[in-house]
Amino acid sequence: MIQAPKGTYDVLPQDVERRRVLTGHAEHILGAAGYRRIETPSFESTELFARGVGEATDIVQKEMYSFDDGGGRSLTLRPEGTAPVCRAYIEHGMHKLPPPVKLWYLSSFFRAENPQKGRYRQFWQVGAEVIGSDSPETDAELIVLLAELLEAMGVKGTRLRIASLGQPETRGAYREELTAYLRAHEDELSDEVRARIDLNPMRAFDASDPGTKAVMAGAPLLLDRLASDDAEHFAQVRALLDTADVGYELDPTLVRGLDYYTRTVFEFTSDALGAQSGVGGGGRYDRLIEQLGGQSTPGIGWAAGLERILLAAPEQPVAADLVDLLVTVADRESREAHQAAFVIAHEARRAGLAAQLELTGRSLKSALKHADRIQARYVAIVNDGEQTSLKDMSSSEQKELATGAVIAAILRGHGL
Ligand code: ATP
Ligand code: MG
Repeated sequence: MIQAPKGTYDVLPQDVERRRVLTGHAEHILGAAGYRRIETPSFESTELFARGVGEATDIVQKEMYSFDDGGGRSLTLRPEGTAPVCRAYIEHGMHKLPPPVKLWYLSSFFRAENPQKGRYRQFWQVGAEVIGSDSPETDAELIVLLAELLEAMGVKGTRLRIASLGQPETRGAYREELTAYLRAHEDELSDEVRARIDLNPMRAFDASDPGTKAVMAGAPLLLDRLASDDAEHFAQVRALLDTADVGYELDPTLVRGLDYYTRTVFEFTSDALGAQSGVGGGGRYDRLIEQLGGQSTPGIGWAAGLERILLAAPEQPVAADLVDLLVTVADRESREAHQAAFVIAHEARRAGLAAQLELTGRSLKSALKHADRIQARYVAIVNDGEQTSLKDMSSSEQKELATGAVIAAILRGHGL
């Protein structure tokens, strides 16, 4: 039997309602704040992610589904949404729009990861980006919007951690300082951390082995090395979050998976999730648009995992689909009756009713049972082309009508 590829899953009809609720909240919360939806292609030039996410990141090094398109071009299934949105911003000259340009998306992404609960190879993210403003209010507002979305979904046990990464230059100097510090303590570090000192020294803060942890407790912190305007920007973001009563923890070792973050970075986690506790996160990327060939333009964004939001949110009772009318025939041999039934169902839908035609040749008795099961409000039983019985399923009352009068009778019954 052929099964869905490892790390993927089917969204079955019964799963759709909760996803629709999330889409609705995102539309409402982000729409009210002036964000407009954008969709980009499922795959892009590999180079976009190499440049936009960063060569040294886990995503680019290990997690990309890249392939040759047959014409010698390397394409990659999008692992994240920020680089594609910035590519679209540049490509469509959105710098001509009144700034800032606020965009959101709900799309699927692809990463070649080890599948676990809350971690898939194809997963969905809702994301938001603000391009063209570097004010601290932008950062705080964007963070507040994600907090609101998680709250609206009823995500339990959320915690927010924030930090500032400053500018790439500051980080470069800090990285050298940290690398030198790690080198000086090399024999106390785990093999894995030691092997990655040059590639990604920040990762050492994530390590869980006691030796590395002890070394990292005394390591220099980037937050203490920020240039004064970056430190001031971060102080203002924090003050705004305080004013808005949004709780957060300062986490000087917050490591985000993208290379081009500048200044503010943040992450929401949920205690309701196991090992995969990250619900959503993001940060400022003031160099990215320029890095991708556009004019120097500040930006900031976040992305939150749909699966993890749904895992950390309570199940809601789902209302049954509405069925106003099921149309069937009394005599299964009568072609006229079948034709008339077909027309009633079609015209009922055109009149705005949720109407289904009995399609499987059920006997009248089992058609009525089926109507019960799908909670149809009415059943129209076409006797011949001319005559139809209309049964009200809640009262079991049945009326004989001219076939052409059935829809009007239902609409009257609806009080429409
Ligand atoms: P993690 O630390 O869990 O690997 P990440 O830092 O790689 O997360 P981001 O790139 O910041 O995640 O993506 C934002 C959000 O997207 C995450 O917080 C998470 O909710 C979700 N996410 C990321 N990767 C996956 C995945 N493979 N499957 C499901 N959701 C994911
Ligand atoms: Mg990851």
